[in-house]
Amino acid sequence: MTEIERPGAQQWVPEGADIPALREAATACRGCELWEPASQVVFSAGPPSASIVMVGEQPGDQEDRRGQPFVGPAGTLLVQAIRDAGIDPASVYRTNAVKHFRFELRGARRLHKTPETVHITACRPWLHAELQDLAPQIVVALGATAGRSLFGRPVRIGAERGRVLEGAIPDSTARSLLTAHPSSVLRMQRDPGYDAAYESLVTDLRTAAAVVG
Ligand code: SF4
Repeated sequence: MTEIERPGAQQWVPEGADIPALREAATACRGCELWEPASQVVFSAGPPSASIVMVGEQPGDQEDRRGQPFVGPAGTLLVQAIRDAGIDPASVYRTNAVKHFRFELRGARRLHKTPETVHITACRPWLHAELQDLAPQIVVALGATAGRSLFGRPVRIGAERGRVLEGAIPDSTARSLLTAHPSSVLRMQRDPGYDAAYESLVTDLRTAAAVVG
């Protein structure tokens, strides 16, 4: 599919739909070319009554195979960080800015490929519809792709992370907070800076948790 043939998800998003209806409708989305090589759409997990929503980048290899977000190694680290921040992981609604796995084949391996702005833009109507139905108290953007989707602009994690923002998400009254994606922490596992990176993630999540009390 060429750029000009990328219609965006809007025409597949049922107006005013709740989360189960959105999840079902997303299986038919052809808003960009990412649906074709992926195994399935990976929509979201967690309760629609959640006060805290966390938004990641896109499903990874394991998420794509299992149809669930945040079930791979980065997801495992995130769950631990959520717990360490004093939040019950089961109370958090988890979703991604882009709902299909973007990858490149290297032999038999499928290597993660960062979604481009066109994919983020094409998929944004799903995230927008989710937030309209969820009406959370705070939305945590995990990484630059989530930040770009939520705030509609490029973000710099180092300079902007950890601050509670008001009115930063267009058409949403939810507060928001930007932090690192757990995969960026995971990549540091053998580095001396790993502990500090993990603690920074936990600190940011604690700041988000304080908003909901
Ligand atoms: S990535 Fe998003 S816009 Fe593209 S086909 Fe999948 S659900 Fe639709």
